[in-house]
Amino acid sequence: MRYITTIIIGAGQSGLAMSMHLTDRSIDHVLLERGEVANSWQTERWDSLRLLTPNWQSRLPGYAYEGSDPDGFMKVAEVVSYLTRYADVSGAPVQSRTKVTRVRQLDTGYEVSTDQGMWRCQTLVVASGACNIATVPAVAMGLPPKIASLTPMHYRNPESLPEGGIMVVGASATGVQLAREIRASGRNVVLAAGEHVRVPRVYRGRDIKWWMEAIGAMDLRYDAIDDVDRARRLPSLQLIGTPGRENIDLNSLRKAGVEIVGRIAGMRDGKLQISASLPNHCALADLKMNRLLVSIDAWILSSGQEDCFPASHRFEPTEIDPHTRLVIDLNDGSVKTVIWATGYSPDYSWLDVPVFDRKGRIRHNGGVVAAPGMYVMGLPFMRRRKSSFIDGAADDAADLAAHLTLGLRRLAA
Ligand SMILES: Cc1cc2nc3c(=O)[nH]c(=O)nc-3n(C[C@H](O)[C@H](O)[C@H](O)COP(=O)(O)OP(=O)(O)OC[C@H]3O[C@@H](n4cnc5c(N)ncnc54)[C@H](O)[C@@H]3O)c2cc1C
Repeated sequence: MRYITTIIIGAGQSGLAMSMHLTDRSIDHVLLERGEVANSWQTERWDSLRLLTPNWQSRLPGYAYEGSDPDGFMKVAEVVSYLTRYADVSGAPVQSRTKVTRVRQLDTGYEVSTDQGMWRCQTLVVASGACNIATVPAVAMGLPPKIASLTPMHYRNPESLPEGGIMVVGASATGVQLAREIRASGRNVVLAAGEHVRVPRVYRGRDIKWWMEAIGAMDLRYDAIDDVDRARRLPSLQLIGTPGRENIDLNSLRKAGVEIVGRIAGMRDGKLQISASLPNHCALADLKMNRLLVSIDAWILSSGQEDCFPASHRFEPTEIDPHTRLVIDLNDGSVKTVIWATGYSPDYSWLDVPVFDRKGRIRHNGGVVAAPGMYVMGLPFMRRRKSSFIDGAADDAADLAAHLTLGLRRLAA
């Protein structure tokens, strides 16, 4: 049994940012990591993936991008090197190849079982990621057996897919990126789109991520909005990081030859029933995109910078094919593989502490978990809109490290 003040579970950006703050505060700690630093990026992403956030926005406590392409988008291998270097320069005490198998609450503190032995700690930071499991809807159970079914966590490239047509389900960042890449490889692709969030890559000469930061959207706090539950469930933005800074949306995919259909409503006898909600979902996405652009225009005007940027403009509304299919027969051989890009969820199967709500989510207040001395990091809109992004780890870790330190002082007193 080993004893330490704080255990951080996970050495992704969240765990590393927290470690940096604990080091600054001289709190002894260890990061237990089942793989190596940046394991999720190394093992759970597809080959061609680039960040959709610009390089300058990969800021971590005491560390920033210093390369020659601040407006570019890192490839996965570059993200891994970036985080590995951060772990080195920050001296993060990572114990890699150590899988946490159980966490149990004690009278004070926690007992952490791993496949490399047991630990005890006073405070615990769960930084094990928000995207450990790909969420697959129940309808997948009814797929005809000859249709291959996979999730983005196992997709690597178009060449590794079975021959034939592909259906991608879900039109958030992951779904639209996979549909684009697979279509570009020459396959027939159908994309099933439900609620989605459309944004341009560049507006009035600047990256949309730059604008969202400028107008304060990324720093919006969880306790300053009306419906944080809804905000935490919102789909990710339709964005892709490419050297050409292209837009990716249903219009661009349609032009590239992707067939767009609505949300999957059910399946009967191998036939997918498609909801007729596509026009509504697209109208809503267009409306929300325009609202964002209005906010940007208003910010430019109110800050007296109208002459500093190109003129305001709007993008083509999403075009809907009037013959959009409402039934797709999976028995007719046109689709051979379905990829479920329908979201991700965390895996807390090892967390044996009663901190869950009835949907299995950790109960927390801005990352302060409903158990003494326990914290969570990296969840969507956890403390701020940027919480689940690389750029969000620094501020959240600073806040939570301060809370943790206070708790330790109280304990000592
Ligand atoms: C496809 C995709 C693309 C994304 N693109 C971007 C982007 O462009 N820009 C951006 O800012 N964000 C992006 N994100 C969001 C976010 O930055 C990543 O999900 C990031 O990996 C989250 O970092 P994290 O440290 O919170 O979690 P993770 O990186 O998932 O780190 C958690 C760590 O915990 C370890 N772990 C888990 N369980 C255990 C256990 N039981 N025992 C020991 N170790 C364990 C894992 O191995 C992992 O290393 C993307 C996410 C996805 C899924």
